[in-house]
Formats: sequence, C-alpha cells, structure tokens
Amino acid sequence: MLYGKWRPRGFDEVVGQDHIITTLRNALATSQVAHAYLFSGPRGTGKTTTARILARAVNCEALQAGEPCNVCRACEAIRRGNALDLIEMDAASNRGIDDVREIRDKIAFAPSDLRKKVYLLDEVHMLTGGAFNALLKTLEEPPPHAIFILATTELHDVPATIISRCQRYDFRRVANEAVVRRLRFICEQEGFKVPDQGLLQIAIQSRGGLRDAITLLEQVVARFGANPGTDDVLVSLGLTHDARSEALARALVEDDLGQALTLVREVADDGVDLTRFTRETIDVLRDVLLQVVKGAPNPASEHRLLGDSAIASRRGPGPVARAIEELAKADFRQDPGNPVPLEVACASLFIAPVVQAVAAPAANGGGPAREPAGQRPARPGPATGDAAQKPGREGDVSPEERFLRDLYGRCSTADFKLGAHLNGSCEVLSIEGDTLEMGFFFRPSMEKIQNEGRTLVEQQAEAILGRPMRLSVKLVERKAAAPRQRPKSGHLVQTARSIPGAVPIGKE
Ligand SMILES: [Zn+2]
Repeated sequence: MLYGKWRPRGFDEVVGQDHIITTLRNALATSQVAHAYLFSGPRGTGKTTTARILARAVNCEALQAGEPCNVCRACEAIRRGNALDLIEMDAASNRGIDDVREIRDKIAFAPSDLRKKVYLLDEVHMLTGGAFNALLKTLEEPPPHAIFILATTELHDVPATIISRCQRYDFRRVANEAVVRRLRFICEQEGFKVPDQGLLQIAIQSRGGLRDAITLLEQVVARFGANPGTDDVLVSLGLTHDARSEALARALVEDDLGQALTLVREVADDGVDLTRFTRETIDVLRDVLLQVVKGAPNPASEHRLLGDSAIASRRGPGPVARAIEELAKADFRQDPGNPVPLEVACASLFIAPVVQAVAAPAANGGGPAREPAGQRPARPGPATGDAAQKPGREGDVSPEERFLRDLYGRCSTADFKLGAHLNGSCEVLSIEGDTLEMGFFFRPSMEKIQNEGRTLVEQQAEAILGRPMRLSVKLVERKAAAPRQRPKSGHLVQTARSIPGAVPIGKE
C-alpha cells in the first residue's frame, strides 16, 4: 500500500497543516503537552497520522526540536504497532458506554513500557450519549500519565462539553499544489513518471484529502503502469474530463440558453453522472472567474476555456459568479439521473438579476430599495399610501404568486420531476372561471408541463381553488422585474415594488 509506505514519519512530512504542526512542535519542544487534543477535519487530511506522530513525540527518548527521533525504543515500538501504551480505538465500531468504561477502568494503571499512555479515539463523534458522558468524566480528571487524542470528521456532532476540555486543532483540506508536490515526491521515489497535469487531476479529484490522492495514484499506476499519460489518469479516475463541461460553461457565459439546454440533455442521455458534470462545470467557471478577477489565466488550470480570456473579460465577474451560484443549487439527490435541476439552474440565469430590478431609488422619499427587506423592521415614518398598509411578508405576495408557490409545493410533492418545471420558470397570467393561464419563460418546461404535467397541475389547482380547472399555457417573455422564485429575494422585490414611485430599471 503506497499510502502506508509514504505515511509521514515526522511532523516535517505532514502536508498542508503547517498551522497545526508548528504549534504542536513548539509545545513539545517546551514540554507544554496538553492532556487532551481534538483533531477535526475532512477525511484523509492527516489527523490520525499526526496523532501517531504526537504519540511518538510525547514518548520519544531523544526528541529533537519537537520531532520524534523514530529510532529510539519508544518510537520503534509505536512505529511497529506493538506499543501496549498506544491504545487506538475506532469509535465507529466501539461506540458504547462499556467501551469507554473499559478505558476509564484501565487508565489509572501506569503505562507498561512507555512514558505516557496515549489514547487515540478515531471518529469520536460516533460515540453514544452515554459513552460521551463516561468519556467526559475521564477527561475531567485524567491521570498525569495519560493523553487523549480525539479525532473526528464531524465536529458538530461532538458535544461542546467534550470540545471545551480539549485543545482543538482544525485540519484543513490540503491545497492542490501541496498534494501535487507530495505526489510528485512519491513518484520520484517510486520511479513513476506521471505528467503534472495528471497529478493535478488526481489532486482535484481527491478534494484536499491526501490519503485519497495517494490511493488514486496507486490505482492509476496499477492499471496503466509506471508511465501513465494524462489521458490514462483521466480514464482511471473515471473522469470524462467532459469537454462538454467547458462547452456548457461557455454557453452560460455567452448567454446561449439553447446551447446550454441541448448540452445538458445530451450529457444526461449519455448517462453521465450529473452531480460530477455540474461540479466540473462549476470548476471551469471558477477558473474563469479567477481569470476575470485577476486578469490573467490561472496557470494551474487545465481548462482550455481559459485561453479565451476575451469571453469572460468582456462581461465582468458578475454573470460568471451568478452562473456558479445557480449551478451550485442544482441538487440531484432525489433523482440522480434527472437533468431538470441543472436545466432549471441554467434557465434561472436568463432571468434578470433581482438587484438590478429594484435598484432604482424610490422617487418620493421611500428610500433606497436595496436594503435587505428581511432585516428591516416595519418602518414607521413618512410612508404613504399602500406602503403604510403593507402588513408584512404574506401581504407582499400577490395572490397569483401565492397560488403559484402553493401549486409548485403540491406538484413537486406529488411528482418531483414535473414539479421542478414550475420552479422559477413560469408565472400565473390569470385565473378566470375554470381557466388557469400560465406563462412559461422556457419552452422545454412549457412542453413538459403541457404534455406530461397537465393532469397533475389541473388536479392540484382544483385542490387549491376548490373547483375543476383547465390549464392553458403559453410562452412568455420574462419581464426584467419578474420576481424570481427565491424566498429571500422574492420578498425584496415585492417590498421594493410596493414603495410608491419605485420603478424597475429600464421600465420607466
Ligand atoms: Zn524516539
């Protein structure tokens, strides 16, 4: 196992956690060792490795500037895994009160061969409530010969009472460059030749977890030998490195909704993992954003789009940031193969930004409409006319909009896929007699509702209105001031509109 072989032997080899390592080494060098540590952070970032080095360091017979010597009897015993006084427990499988009680019962005994007894409790958040209580008692009054190192990937699941009794260290995701450096070092030592682009792909794919990165490297080499090309790496990672993610990013930046939706449909039809495809597209857009902001291509990026600085710089960072924001909302958990969330995310970009629509200051003393409405108390003062009657959140919403929200809620509960087409992609034009007229901003959503969602919508409309309804749809131009179906900003728009004299930009 490559990872086991290249596990750091000393603090100086731990990658990407300098803030922690420096503090620990200083504490060790000045003999200020705490009795309880809590290491939190994402998987594979070095928590257990650092804990084991710390276990050696507190027991080392020849500590050098905080670094364990790795050759003395204590270091050797711990490295070989046969030190009786290093007790490692995986709380994922030993999570009960009895497991912790066993620790408590034995902790009073002096260490058998080392200076300190070190308890390493991995995945500590998995402990049961009773086990945490038992642990807490132990942490309150530990014997001087014992040190606890708790590790967790889920800090929020660790009780505050436990956290407060530990010295806490937050491990970070390792930066891509640092992962690449370490991988390159390992390749040199092992005699592998992997292109830097390939190593970068491995780093990106492992999302800041060095252990995962090294495991991926091992898989690549196992499959393609010691000299894999970048394409081999991509294949091995199951990365399509789908050129279509760049094409989609480009379509979004260039305002080509038709192209964007075509690409999404194509990708979905090919059975591509949409979560990953969306993430890839976001990565491309992030690179574009960086490029726009810095005015220079990101040398660490592999995206060809970046060569094309003209596209992005012409439009500034706003649209790119918004594209990232919308794509990040696409949630495929309910139905992984269904492209609708991504389609809706793309389509949302083509609705004018809310802030622009309300940025016009009110003409007659209403004040600027930019204030976040949610944070503003009902304003006494010179409000006149309907602003004064504005009763609050509910009152800001037109009956049509309230109906549409209700309709969307009911339809998406009944059928998530179809319901998604009602979210942010349409408006209610009228409800008259037995006819519900809806205007859609995008043809794909309209056709979907027309052909497959008609019965659903008519049934739910009947349930809301208490009478049989017939649905009529048409394609409409979305208005610049059309409120988007986003709870936070919808309220803002409505509030702004209710201010006398407020006029959406461009609609004077
Ligand atoms: Zn030593």
